[in-house]
Amino acid sequence: MAKKGVSDGFREVSASGDHFKVGESLGRQCRDIALRMERRFKEHVSATPGADLKKAVAYARRSLPLSREFYPGYVEELEGYAKGTGIPFETVYAMTCDFPETRGKGCTDIAVNSEWTKDDCVYAAHNEDVGPAQINEIVIARVKPSDEPGYIGMNYGGIWPTEGINAAGISLTGNALVPNDTRLGIPKEFPVRKVLGETGIYQALMASMPEGRGHSFNNIVCDQNGEIYSMEGSATAFDAIYAEHGWLVHTNHYLSPRMWKYEANLHTRFSSIVRYNRAVRLFKKELGKVEVSTFHKVLSDHVGYPESICRHADPKLPPDEQTQSIFSIVCNLTEKSLWVCHGNPCKGTYRKYEV
Ligand SMILES: [Zn+2]
Repeated sequence: MAKKGVSDGFREVSASGDHFKVGESLGRQCRDIALRMERRFKEHVSATPGADLKKAVAYARRSLPLSREFYPGYVEELEGYAKGTGIPFETVYAMTCDFPETRGKGCTDIAVNSEWTKDDCVYAAHNEDVGPAQINEIVIARVKPSDEPGYIGMNYGGIWPTEGINAAGISLTGNALVPNDTRLGIPKEFPVRKVLGETGIYQALMASMPEGRGHSFNNIVCDQNGEIYSMEGSATAFDAIYAEHGWLVHTNHYLSPRMWKYEANLHTRFSSIVRYNRAVRLFKKELGKVEVSTFHKVLSDHVGYPESICRHADPKLPPDEQTQSIFSIVCNLTEKSLWVCHGNPCKGTYRKYEV
């Protein structure tokens, strides 16, 4: 078990009850992290030309009615979190709308169904590539709202899930995209959280791509039957890429021809292109004998270093432009367990957590 502020593992928290209680409890347990994230959010806003906190809060507030209509339970969790951390709700909501993990810096994902695995299990795996300092913002959260299946998630600040798997055998992994049609709408963090509250693949796919969204991740939604979808979205369009051959890889550029016109600037996606092709090539060789160690091997690859699948901070870049794989996970959807590696997978080992 990781201790507060100790960097040899992630803090573990749990919360149950109604959504407000869940948020309040997570807020109390993660208050120190939340305050750091609030500070970083405010610094980011004040460094953005033409922006200030008041404007950011006012802009975000305009999407609140849409968010409340789409998923009232998560708004209640954020309200509880505001109470638990002492941060005003309007700031918590503005932080949700301008989530720094969403700027498309990285992440590599692989998902595979049971026909290709050694133990007949379905897997979804992911490297989380963000700013190196953000390793101190991640918490392993067990969340059990009274009206939903519980989930275990890799949650920023305890409340913002980025990856996870739930008790109904649904996983949400995925990566950032940079579309050119962003607008005021449901923040892209909302679908991530809502998928983790769903009980079946149909409901989860719907939750992953709501109409009226302002932006989108590529949300990889899998179930325990081996249904694997890469929901490649922008604000106004999406394609549901199905793993028709039983496996898929995704990084940070649009793969579907239907979505190519929404790519903001492919010239900024070279790391993504290298990681995608490299992961496909490495993983293809493993088909039929895939197990947890296979993901460890592929996700630790250094071709294209430092912007490789296992990413490392490039000392030539200013600190706020650096990217690092701060954790790596493997969801076992059949057993409903989560394997977590703290920090770069090339240096670490994976520890198992049951849902
Ligand atoms: Zn590495």
